[in-house]
Amino acid sequence: MIHYLIAKIFGTAIFGRGFCGWGCWIAMILEVLPYKNPSGRVKNLGILRYIVFLLSLGIVLYFWKCGYTIYGSRDKELLWFIVGLAIYYSFGISMAFLFKDNRAFCKYFCPIPVLQKILGRFALLKISIDKNKCINCGLCEKNCPMDIKLLDYKNKGKRVLSTECILCTTCMGVCPKSAIDVKVKFDFGEEILGYRG
Ligand code: SF4
Ligand code: SF4
Ligand code: SF4
Repeated sequence: MIHYLIAKIFGTAIFGRGFCGWGCWIAMILEVLPYKNPSGRVKNLGILRYIVFLLSLGIVLYFWKCGYTIYGSRDKELLWFIVGLAIYYSFGISMAFLFKDNRAFCKYFCPIPVLQKILGRFALLKISIDKNKCINCGLCEKNCPMDIKLLDYKNKGKRVLSTECILCTTCMGVCPKSAIDVKVKFDFGEEILGYRG
């Protein structure tokens, strides 16, 4: 519960989806797969994560109501935890190879962002581009693992408001002009939902 509250619900008001960029043990494995630079998003597949979220919630509520008796005693919890993780890893790795995108599981299947996106919109820490330094080379967009169109936000004079940003700082690392930084500020607004690809 503590982990959920910090990483996935209330902490997102501070660091957005930073957990996805730095703390997730599923992504830890996905990140070492060969497809770091995806060609872009598959249109309309994002709806899948909302369906998975509702199904997962339904299963949790069902088990909770049944007092665990449906799958045996509480000493089986570790087994169920491992089985659940094994299913996640299988889906994650298969999707990475299928879509040639290490983060395909994060973009289309994982239900966690449904929760993270609620307060993540108001996150204090967000990516910011200095207009005066940027030379529009496009390297940041090309290397963003989440296909975010960073320059659309820069052109509107906004920080990167996308709740798809996982604060991985890859864009900062590739910018030849050091024009990208993580800034602390309170703002929220229109999320530009166009993605690369
Ligand atoms: S979207 Fe899901 S699998 Fe991907 S990093 Fe976030 S919590 Fe982990
Ligand atoms: S590359 Fe930049 S914009 Fe893209 S997810 Fe990482 S931190 Fe966010
Ligand atoms: S990598 Fe840096 S200079 Fe190039 S478009 Fe992005 S912010 Fe601008």
